[in-house]
Amino acid sequence: MKESSGAATQRRGSEVQLSNLHRRFPMGEEIVRAVNGVSLKVDSGECVALVGSSGSGKSTLLHLIGGLDIRDEGSIVVDGQELGALSAAKLAKYRANTVGFIFQSFHLLPHRTAQENVELPMTVAGLPRAERKARAEEILKEVGLGSRLKHRPAQMSGGERQRVAIARALGNRPSLLVADEPTGNLDSVNGDRVMDLLFQLTKERGVTLIYATHDMQLAAKADRMIRMKDGSMVDGEKS
Ligand code: ADP
Ligand code: MG
Repeated sequence: MKESSGAATQRRGSEVQLSNLHRRFPMGEEIVRAVNGVSLKVDSGECVALVGSSGSGKSTLLHLIGGLDIRDEGSIVVDGQELGALSAAKLAKYRANTVGFIFQSFHLLPHRTAQENVELPMTVAGLPRAERKARAEEILKEVGLGSRLKHRPAQMSGGERQRVAIARALGNRPSLLVADEPTGNLDSVNGDRVMDLLFQLTKERGVTLIYATHDMQLAAKADRMIRMKDGSMVDGEKS
């Protein structure tokens, strides 16, 4: 296959269909209904913002969509594939190849350089070293960090760290990007920059983006906003 640069050869974005999704956590005598009957369809290439107060179930929902957690009831169908029906190995493959996940607190390995952090998921996916290196460099340049390849996380600002995390999430050319309060640890200027970058990179590639945020201005930039309350969607689907 011809090696690519840029968006032209990217897959189209994932289509995500959630049906009556439930995730419950036993807490002592009680059961926390973190996700309580969510149904939602996200189109290929769509950009959806999840809003709602702390504890409303945003992270739990994103973890389920990203294959980091397993639902108790209902279904999550991504590109026609029901995640709950996948073996552990297939789910790991889904996490490695289909989804990119971006966390509020970056989750970078502290003793690795920016480039090594970006290469890591590509190593897991079995890419040859030369291609990993080239791809990591290319994406880090794309996120504006061409001069930070050898920096470690502690030597970078919060905004730069999150841009490394974005580059890492895109390394395996996912068709779905899931971001859990990606600007939560950033000041508003850097937060805006990071979101603009995320919007730009996902739109260019046709990648589906689902992100949680507390910031209504950032949420308003999505194609659609979904509000969560007590584990359920309160606004329903708008288009
Ligand atoms: P948000 O991201 O909107 O703040 P979360 O999805 O983190 O909400 O949490 C939803 C609810 O589920 C909260 O009441 C939280 O305390 C609870 N919860 C989340 N994860 C767990 C867990 N692993 N064990 C027990 N309760 C949890
Ligand atoms: Mg959360």
